[in-house]
Amino acid sequence: MHNQTKLISILSEGGFHSGEALGARLGVSRTAVWKTIKKLSEYGLDIHSVRGKGYRLSHAIELLDAGNILEETGKKCQSRIAEIDVFLKHSSTNAWLMAKASPEPDKGHVCFAEMQTEGRGRRGRKWVSPFGENLYLSILWQFPADPQMLSGLGLALSVAIVRALDELGVHDVGLKWPNDVIWNKRKLAGILVEMVAESTGPCRVVMGVGLNINFQSSASQQIDQPWVDLKTILGRTPSRNKIAGVVLRHLLNVIILYEQRGLAPFIEEWRNHDAYKGQRVDILMYKNNISGICEGIDNMGALQVRSGNGPIQKFTSGEISLRGRPAPEQ
Ligand code: ATP
Repeated sequence: MHNQTKLISILSEGGFHSGEALGARLGVSRTAVWKTIKKLSEYGLDIHSVRGKGYRLSHAIELLDAGNILEETGKKCQSRIAEIDVFLKHSSTNAWLMAKASPEPDKGHVCFAEMQTEGRGRRGRKWVSPFGENLYLSILWQFPADPQMLSGLGLALSVAIVRALDELGVHDVGLKWPNDVIWNKRKLAGILVEMVAESTGPCRVVMGVGLNINFQSSASQQIDQPWVDLKTILGRTPSRNKIAGVVLRHLLNVIILYEQRGLAPFIEEWRNHDAYKGQRVDILMYKNNISGICEGIDNMGALQVRSGNGPIQKFTSGEISLRGRPAPEQ
């Protein structure tokens, strides 16, 4: 285990730990302990240092651990994981996997990070990713299909998150086309699908998920829309490794079925959680916006909007954003 990881685990036991005691447990000098502590502060960890007493972490952190995650994921899904990496800090788990070689067919390369410095959403937007508070995970998978067949993949993955949340005790989750998981109109999780398509042959796809578990740091102030975390919804924080394993299992099961049958097996479930169907919405496009009533998704996963008395317009491109708007006053 990495010394930084070990140090966080020891400090998470609670209370003060002297530099000497920490050095003895890590098998390093007090100076080396001090240097590692300094490094941890770069992660935004709140470590108190009191002369004569030592170091103390302001709150315990359950670090992600590949072994614990895999245990929760279960045997069947384990066989679909070619590699699993857990980083303390990364720029972006999606970006990292985009640069990796494809895993063997029917298997995924999985990557978790405790913190992302450049976590990303769609179209260059930022995913706020402080250390040890939430879940940031990506999966690299090679699909034999052509890119068009993958247009509904993000919707299917949203269904995977709904199922995972249901297993974790959150039952009233909504979906916002194309990639947001919301609760009470507040954003709980986001999905980012990125792909590198060959003109012929398989398509390399990286699927990223950010799920808020327990936002404690001031980093949450960077989020410019209503958001929520599992702690707020459940009133408690389930084990992070359990959440990671449950989410990973549902994602893998959906990916495997999507590869065989596309979006069809997930359409009804997506519709059951559609948070905007029948509501007045704005569709934000590159140049002009339209507003209308959201008519849900069609069988291909395209968003349908009726504007005035006109025909239904369909949107398939990820280059638009849907925004709810309050109904006009009577
Ligand atoms: P769209 O409807 O186009 O998907 P979006 O605003 O939800 O729009 P995304 O690219 O899906 O955009 O996600 C990025 C946005 O999510 C950020 O601009 C920010 O508003 C919000 N955001 C960033 N980090 C978090 C987070 N940890 N939890 C919830 N929301 C976040």
